[in-house]
This record gives sequence, structure tokens and C-alpha cells, in this order.
Amino acid sequence: MKQTTFVIIGLGLIGGSLAAAIRKKFPQGRVVGVSRKGRTIAFAKKKGFIHEGFTRLKLAVRAAKFVLVCSPIDSIPKLISEVDRFAPPGTVVTDVGSTKSEIVNWADRKRFRNIEFIGSHPLAGSHLTGIRHAKGDLFRGAFVFVTPSRKSSRRAFASASSFWKRLGANVRRVSPKVHDQIVSEVSHLPHAIASILMHIVSSNSFRYRAAGFSDTTRVAQGSPELWTPIMLTNRANVLRDLRRFERVLRRFRVLLGNRSKKSLYRFLRIAALRRSRSGSS
Ligand code: NAP
Repeated sequence: MKQTTFVIIGLGLIGGSLAAAIRKKFPQGRVVGVSRKGRTIAFAKKKGFIHEGFTRLKLAVRAAKFVLVCSPIDSIPKLISEVDRFAPPGTVVTDVGSTKSEIVNWADRKRFRNIEFIGSHPLAGSHLTGIRHAKGDLFRGAFVFVTPSRKSSRRAFASASSFWKRLGANVRRVSPKVHDQIVSEVSHLPHAIASILMHIVSSNSFRYRAAGFSDTTRVAQGSPELWTPIMLTNRANVLRDLRRFERVLRRFRVLLGNRSKKSLYRFLRIAALRRSRSGSS
């Protein structure tokens, strides 16, 4: 992979960070970026994230070996199809989309002419978007899920896994289905709850927020352009987890309504112990 031509489609937070990381970790590789905006390409070049940039995908992937699609979930299938039309045979393609079943099932149904696809998802990033927030060390120490299906190419799986490891990531192989269940609990349900809290808080109370409220709602600042398709493509898991949330919420309401001091204490203590056992992060 050392002298590979990497093509990154979507030079935002994740795509820009990937470009910067590849420049560091694959010094002999060539990094080509694709953005719809000329000024993003100019910025990426000025920062030294990419060697070359294009607004037209067709031109960018002509000599590609490894392609990373880093755009919102609902744009990914179309972009992968386009890469398949114009990339050389044997090109390995992965994406960084935050849900995996829909994309991987779609790819399994497709008959690609030139590419071998494998799904990935780095558990790195933040509520910030855009290349201006990109960081070359974003993936160091982060979990990255690589999500093969029964139809995935072993070569693509091996390439993607070794690529992420080289960036310092902690690679985990999981099925797309299990992946989507995990991220529903640790990311999508919390995002829904943070958004709900922002709908509930009054403007007056919000002025007096302290660390607790800010920590709990930080993710609600995430881009709706990214989050709407994430929620919709993981709808069944998020709905199931919302039902679980409602059941526990009902229990909490009963404990409080009944002034059950002991039970309320126990409820809070179990949560505190579980959370503190995981360390400070
Ligand atoms: P971002 O900073 O908003 O960047 C998204 C990029 O996608 C932009 O560079 C934009 O490029 C491009 N784009 C937007 N709509 C497009 C379209 N219709 N067709 C082609 N390109 C389009 O977002 P991000 O945080 O990097 O997220 C990118 C992907 O990573 C998403 O699928 C997200 O689910 C996933 N992800 C995000 C995080 C996170 O914490 N942020 C973590 C893991 C995975 P131009 O406007 O410059 O063309």
C-alpha cells in the first residue's frame, strides 16, 4: 500500500482528517481529494492534506487504488457507483458512513464492474463539520469497525483493515447488523435524547447551563444534514432502543412519583457505578 494512490471523496471533517493522516502515515502514497467546492480543494492543498484535487470524481479516480467515500450516508451509494464506472479494475473502495447495513446490503446486491467494496466506520470525530476542523491524528487509538458480509471480498477486507491499523486505529471486525445495533445504543439513541433535551429546555434556564447540561447535549449540535440519514438508515434499532428508553423512563417516573427514596437511590447508584467503572471518558 506504500505507493498507493488514495482518493478521498468528500473533504469534510472525516475526509480532511483522513487526507492529513495518510500524508503522515503513507509518505510515499499519493493523496487525491474530491470536493464539490474549489475553495475546499484549495484549502486542502494549502494545508498539505492532498497532492491534487478535483471537483469531478471521474477525473479523480482514474489512477485510484484505494478510495474512501466520506460524504453523508444518503449520498454514498451513488458515489460508489460512480467510482465503479471510472476507477481501474481491482480498486478497493470503502466508506466511513455511520450506519452499515443499508450500504453493505446495497453493495451486496450490486454487481460492480471494477471495484471491490468493504464497509468501514471510524468511531472518531465530533459535532463539528468541515475540513477546517480536520486533524491528522483523529484516528489514533480510535475504534474502527470494518463490516464484511458473506459476499465481501477478502482482499478488500484485508486492505481496509491494514489501512486503518496503519493510522493507529483499533480495528474491530463486526457484521453490519451488529454494528448498527451497537451504534444505536452508544451514539444514535444518545443523539436523539440530547436533541430532545434541547427541545425541552426553556431559553431562560438554558442561559444558566453548567457542565452537566453542556456535556449531555454537546452532540445535539451535530449537522442535521448528516444526522437525518443516519437516523433513517438505522430506524429499526433506534426505535427499539427508544422503546427501551421509554420503559426505563416510566420506571424512573414511578419511583419519583412514589417518593421511593431507597429505590431511587439504588437506581442512581447503579447508573453511577456503571458509568464510573468505565473511567473518565
Ligand atoms: P462533513 O464535515 O460535513 O463533511 C461531509 C463532506 O461530504 C463534505 O466535504 C461535502 O463536501 C461532502 N458532501 C456533502 N454532501 C454531498 C453530496 N450530496 N455528494 C457528494 N459529497 C457531499 O461531515 P463528516 O463529519 O466528515 O461526515 C462524513 C461521513 O462520515 C458521514 O457519512 C458521517 O456519517 C461519517 N462519520 C462522521 C463522524 C463524525 O463524528 N463527524 C464519525 C464517523 C463517521 P463538499 O461540500 O466540499 O463537496
